[in-house]
Amino acid sequence: MAPFKRVLVANRGEVALRVIRACHEEGLEAVAVYSDADRLSPHVRAAHVAVPIGAAPAAESYLDIAKLIEAARTTECQAIHPGYGFLSERAPFAEAVTQAGLTFVGPPATAIQAMGDKTEARRRMQAAGVPVVPGTTRPVPDHVQAGAEAARLGYPVLLKAVAGGGGKGMRLVRDEAELESAFQGAESEAMKAFGAGELYLEKYLDRPRHIEIQILADTYGRVVALGERECSIQRRHQKLIEEAPSVAVTPALRRRLSEAATAAAGSVGYLGAGTIEFLLAPTGEFYFLEMNTRLQVEHPVTELVFGVDIVREQLRVAQGQPLRVHSGALQPRGHAIECRITAEDPFNDFLPATGMIRYLQAPSGPGVRWDGGVEAGNEVTLFYDPLLAKLIVWGDTRAAALQRMRRALRELVIVGIPSSQAFHLRVLADPDFQRGDVDVTYLERVGERLLAAELAPELIQPLAIAAALLAEEQRASAAAAAPPTAPPPARPSVWTLAARRESVGG
Ligand code: ADP
Repeated sequence: MAPFKRVLVANRGEVALRVIRACHEEGLEAVAVYSDADRLSPHVRAAHVAVPIGAAPAAESYLDIAKLIEAARTTECQAIHPGYGFLSERAPFAEAVTQAGLTFVGPPATAIQAMGDKTEARRRMQAAGVPVVPGTTRPVPDHVQAGAEAARLGYPVLLKAVAGGGGKGMRLVRDEAELESAFQGAESEAMKAFGAGELYLEKYLDRPRHIEIQILADTYGRVVALGERECSIQRRHQKLIEEAPSVAVTPALRRRLSEAATAAAGSVGYLGAGTIEFLLAPTGEFYFLEMNTRLQVEHPVTELVFGVDIVREQLRVAQGQPLRVHSGALQPRGHAIECRITAEDPFNDFLPATGMIRYLQAPSGPGVRWDGGVEAGNEVTLFYDPLLAKLIVWGDTRAAALQRMRRALRELVIVGIPSSQAFHLRVLADPDFQRGDVDVTYLERVGERLLAAELAPELIQPLAIAAALLAEEQRASAAAAAPPTAPPPARPSVWTLAARRESVGG
């Protein structure tokens, strides 16, 4: 744990940029890596040096451990920050980095290993006195055994992959008749996603909330909990909107959750930033779900209500410095919300969108934070996660934060590809969401209705501008591609046209 000067950021997109910014604020140099598909990405320019690491498929670039370590060596880095996704939760990567004489900005490989196996994590949590979702603490070998366990737990149950993540290898089983095919489906999905098909069982809880606790731990034995994040707005077990604090968490419950989270982190000798995920039942009982041994996508909402830079704290801990966070019962100040802006078409079953971003206007102004990874001219491909950016706002109350998020979403203009913006505007307008009356099944229940709803005229404007500009662009490029027959007529620019449309209210 020695101080370092230069950090290789083994990631891309918004998280690479986020880590590079933190490095610069800590007085460190950052080295970026990029695949062939990312040559023009903002994270490449933001870094001190950028190293090409191969072809667009992640297996040939961002997941290639040897190439990343080689890039760190040739650019004389002393540390590697994995970001989230890609190799961030692969114990062999953390080990390889350490073996190469570099510092891994993250927890020890042993902690990643212990928490990466969900049944081992459940056993450890039970031993540490943390309540876990009722279910098995060992893998179930086949559907017959699973049937016996399910009968004991009572249906409905959830089959889950031992190596799980991203909602993959997970199947809801409502009764015995569904079990055999669900088992086969989950097993093969887990095998494909993780190279390991082992499954275990959990009782399927009725309408819980997803509540998670951010923790930070340093080498001086301090483990600090930075309150909760409410992440119940999910689609297919993937989070879309996150908040801090949660309307469902009282100071007393926050204390109990924090105690459970620090016990969980302590039990695996954790270091740096991590997240303990819980399900909170409507009865107020909570259960350990899993631990993510890395920086989380939604970390900014915690940063805004606690005034802490989690990535800078990660960099400090990795250099053997103490956490800068105060001790004692930390309480959140105000309210923060994050909307994940993804390249997905909400009106087409969230189909991932590809194409060039022609124009991008990010929201700004008081209380608004835009953690983006793309800019105009960038091509969005299917090689990587569809996350384009995170829009995060802060307000002194939840109502103020909601109002600010709606204002910020109205300012966002993305031309060239569909995005989740239209979807977020609709969720923000929903009375249930506004009351905080949500659980993990919320979108499943109301998603279709929300998407069918008419938006208020003032909300449609940015979407209409984006659509008009895109149509104009397409017309212009089709005209340019056609062989010239006569000199092209002088035409107004797309901006002039958009302004005209707006002034006539179109
Ligand atoms: P992954 O690691 O694949 O993301 P998690 O265990 O974190 O899987 O669960 C993801 C989401 O699935 C949770 O946030 C919740 O919405 C739902 N979920 C998981 N376990 C249960 C359960 N036992 N009962 C009800 N919903 C669950």
